[in-house]
Amino acid sequence: MYTAIVIGAGIGGLATAARLARAGYKVTLLEKNSRPGGRTDTIEGDGFRFDTGPTLFLMPGIFAETYRAIGERMEAHLELLRLDPTYRVHFHNGTSFDITADLNSMREQLEAMEPGAFKAFLDFMSEGYSHYHLSLEHFVGRNFTSWFEYLTPANMPLIFRVKALRKHYKNTARYFKDPRLRAAFSFQNMYLGVSPYDAMATYSLLQYSEIADGVWFPRGGMYKLIESLAAIAEGLGVQFRYNSPVSRIEVEGSRVSGVTLENGERLGGDVIIANADLPYVYSELLPEERLTDHLAKKRYSSSALMFYWAIRGERSSLLLHHNVFLSDHRYRESFDRIFQDLKLPDEPSFYVCAPTRTEPSFAPPDGDSLLVLVPVGHIDDSKPQDWSALREKAREAVFSRLDMLGLTGLNDIIEFEKTIGPEDYLKRLNLTKGAAFGLSHSFSQVGYMRPHNRHRRYKNLYFVGASTHPGTGLPIVLISARLVVERILREQPVPEKHVSISTSQIMELER
Ligand SMILES: Cc1cc2nc3c(=O)[nH]c(=O)nc-3n(C[C@H](O)[C@H](O)[C@H](O)COP(=O)(O)OP(=O)(O)OC[C@H]3O[C@@H](n4cnc5c(N)ncnc54)[C@H](O)[C@@H]3O)c2cc1C
Repeated sequence: MYTAIVIGAGIGGLATAARLARAGYKVTLLEKNSRPGGRTDTIEGDGFRFDTGPTLFLMPGIFAETYRAIGERMEAHLELLRLDPTYRVHFHNGTSFDITADLNSMREQLEAMEPGAFKAFLDFMSEGYSHYHLSLEHFVGRNFTSWFEYLTPANMPLIFRVKALRKHYKNTARYFKDPRLRAAFSFQNMYLGVSPYDAMATYSLLQYSEIADGVWFPRGGMYKLIESLAAIAEGLGVQFRYNSPVSRIEVEGSRVSGVTLENGERLGGDVIIANADLPYVYSELLPEERLTDHLAKKRYSSSALMFYWAIRGERSSLLLHHNVFLSDHRYRESFDRIFQDLKLPDEPSFYVCAPTRTEPSFAPPDGDSLLVLVPVGHIDDSKPQDWSALREKAREAVFSRLDMLGLTGLNDIIEFEKTIGPEDYLKRLNLTKGAAFGLSHSFSQVGYMRPHNRHRRYKNLYFVGASTHPGTGLPIVLISARLVVERILREQPVPEKHVSISTSQIMELER
């Protein structure tokens, strides 16, 4: 039986391990921390619960496909609840806007802000629809193993059709005049850790997807997803080893032969798949090579200052499940601070998640559980930052903005607080530069130009996760897992267990 070693039990590593086990590989999954999930983690204490990373469950069809590929039905594992309004956007002047799939409500709200904006919104959605389907079919949902596959005569015009060379904010500004609407329909690029002034206009697919496919919440929280994938993988025979940090990938000529753990133990494998952040794997787990410097010079996504607040007191009706606070009057400046100066803006935009609005059990009856995400620049060793001072500044900025909304005295009713910041992403998860979303998604870092999911020299070393193709975000990383397994099954010998099954069955597994 062929053996595979997966390094890292993030969602990418879990999905890859389960798919390979189903295809007949004997899989060992090595995770440095004590439980699976990576960025998709959970904190619990004193009756309070928090999802630490992802809170928006988008593109449910892609999750369902993963469950099918590993022999399960998503519905048997996750009870998905649709959130509508998807979120409330708060502007600096005290007004707000509920983004919803209810078109009547959208019409009333949009026309009140800018006459004609509802028609503009429908046109924007129509463009988002086209970007979504063209991108997923032609660029995101497939492997590229050469320039010839990427820049085909058929693909070239599509690059223009999905507006890959136009900037997202500029494109949004063609639809809406009111700066609040321009901000409300462009901030979503921050899901990828990219400035809307730099992101491709292609990403209007995000706004389309939120309204058309919906924003969902798995009952029990996002960590249910991780628990169920880990349990399925285990049932398929994947051997999990937690607290097992890999310190080196062993190479022999043009192949890798195994890994060495930090405790000195060595494990051999026919195929190795690294789910740990790709630039970290090149710089820390592989022998010195020129690609390390090349990767260090690439552009990285933003990081985040995260606050998890266990609140003792009434649940405010001013908050929905998802709430976005935009610094719309200093919008451009706030992104320049994050992406050019790698700092915290003076008036940061931020996001608050209050899951008890959907699932009361996330906090005791007399309490609330709030997650706050404040985007901030990533770590740059040449410009050291005082992260604890920045955290204090972010906390104060959030309190003062929530105070303006009417959520006064929050600071006094926080029973306990947990925080995560760039240095935690670096140390706990080995995310290069503490960039919370991995490598950036500029035009020159997507498609064939994103670091590939197989090493150029070592032909049996593969990558899965946010910093390889196609990119970051849970559903996109699940696509990354499908693509890498398809590639392994095509390029590496078929495990004995499946030698007797038909090619069509293997193709079905690949699908
Ligand atoms: C704050 C935040 C909010 C987000 N919000 C959303 C959202 O709402 N919706 C959404 O879809 N996406 C969201 N994302 C993005 C999403 O979380 C990521 O794209 C996704 O979780 C990445 O998964 P991964 O498998 O690539 O990597 P990871 O989750 O980072 O997993 C990699 C694993 O490798 C392990 N590892 C590292 N080094 C080693 C080693 N040497 N040996 C062994 N193991 C190792 C790590 O411990 C980790 O468990 C968010 C991310 C963050 C940080």
